[in-house]
Amino acid sequence: MKFYNINQPRERVSFRQSVLQGAASGKGLYFPENIPVISPSRLAEMEKMDLPQLAAHLLYEFVREDFSFESFEELCQRAFNFPIPLKEIDPRLYTLELFHGPSLAFKDIGARFLSQTLQKFSGSFNREITVLVATSGDTGSAVAQSFFNVEGIRVVLLYPSGKVSDLQEKTLTTVGGNVEALEVDGAFDDCQQLVKQAFADQELTSRLVLTSANSINVGRFLPQMVYYFWALFQLPRDKRNRVVFSVPSGNYGNLSAGLMAWKMGLSAARFVASSNINRVFPDYLDTGRYQPRDPVSTLSNAMDVGNPSNFVRIAELFNHDHQAIRRLVSYYVGDDPQIRQTIRQVAEEKDYILDPHGAVGYLGCQNQLQPGETGVFLETAHPAKFQNTVETSIHNKLPLPEYLDRMLKKQKQATQMPADYPSFKAWLLDRLDQP
Ligand SMILES: *Cc1c(COP(=O)(O)O)cnc(C)c1O
Repeated sequence: MKFYNINQPRERVSFRQSVLQGAASGKGLYFPENIPVISPSRLAEMEKMDLPQLAAHLLYEFVREDFSFESFEELCQRAFNFPIPLKEIDPRLYTLELFHGPSLAFKDIGARFLSQTLQKFSGSFNREITVLVATSGDTGSAVAQSFFNVEGIRVVLLYPSGKVSDLQEKTLTTVGGNVEALEVDGAFDDCQQLVKQAFADQELTSRLVLTSANSINVGRFLPQMVYYFWALFQLPRDKRNRVVFSVPSGNYGNLSAGLMAWKMGLSAARFVASSNINRVFPDYLDTGRYQPRDPVSTLSNAMDVGNPSNFVRIAELFNHDHQAIRRLVSYYVGDDPQIRQTIRQVAEEKDYILDPHGAVGYLGCQNQLQPGETGVFLETAHPAKFQNTVETSIHNKLPLPEYLDRMLKKQKQATQMPADYPSFKAWLLDRLDQP
């Protein structure tokens, strides 16, 4: 299967090339040229598989040009190496916990798959791959943790000095080994600008194999389809008929993966785009017009996005048919007071601790579920990652997982970098000559 550039459909590349390139030319996103539909009998067989096997069978069509089935299955074994449990909240409502990976957020699933994929490709190249990531926190943590010790890959994270939380900074700067952190004297946009300039610099790209690990990479997007099937297979049979997935959304990669799973044959009744007050996509559902806006800060800050980059993938998947999208996707918008109240209420009444993003997903189910439907909301981060918000909402202490506690005690290691391209380039090239 090939992947085409949504902006220039004649530009078609293999899975391998789409992963190595990250974005397509002209800021385009890659999209699979067809979506294989899996028959109900095949799906019935897949029900018995474990998570890595399921991933290998679901995704192999997309990657078969570049892998034998056996080597792809091995890759999935290494990529899907932590559990994704479905837990019952009440008889109509379940949560899919996506936060059991190394950075305690769902981005680990994509990052882990991408790191294993790149390792494979770097081996066949015989050259080291440098992964450049500009991060405002979460993506960088997932990439840092998932790429640590991955052979043939060097990771350079750029983050804005003083603009990430303490905990986030620690997750970026204490990994060490092949993961290096640059503390940029500037804003997140400056970090992004440096990365963009590096990709556009032909001298640099002729000397280094550069790639990005941002959320538009096909290698992050594909594995996210898998857990929708996984969730469904874990539900009791009598509840599988009318399942509604509520997806806390920011850049809309997670929801577009769910919709793609639906095209492949996932028997979901519908989806809820659960949003914070950055409601560009909900407004699109209402009006049919897509109008990006500057994001505002909320308690669910990983969803503070004003121009969701995966919107074009959703539009493409439905041939830009607004009505078709609306038939399958409704929305709910939750604000900060509702997030706090929900965290408190669910802790009291259901004995379950939500994080601020999962709280939005929970609200989506509460408000959109019809009689006879079963809701599954995605829990995208461990509540301890947002310790302060959660503790002040439940008026109680929330112990940190041991792993976070250990990390907070480690020494930060970061190189200071001005927001200036020549300095950044010189630093990158300088390191070429070092072992
Ligand atoms: C990134 C992120 C989201 C949003 O996911 P998208 O795929 O960008 O819509 C939600 N919750 C958490 C915790 C995240 O890190």
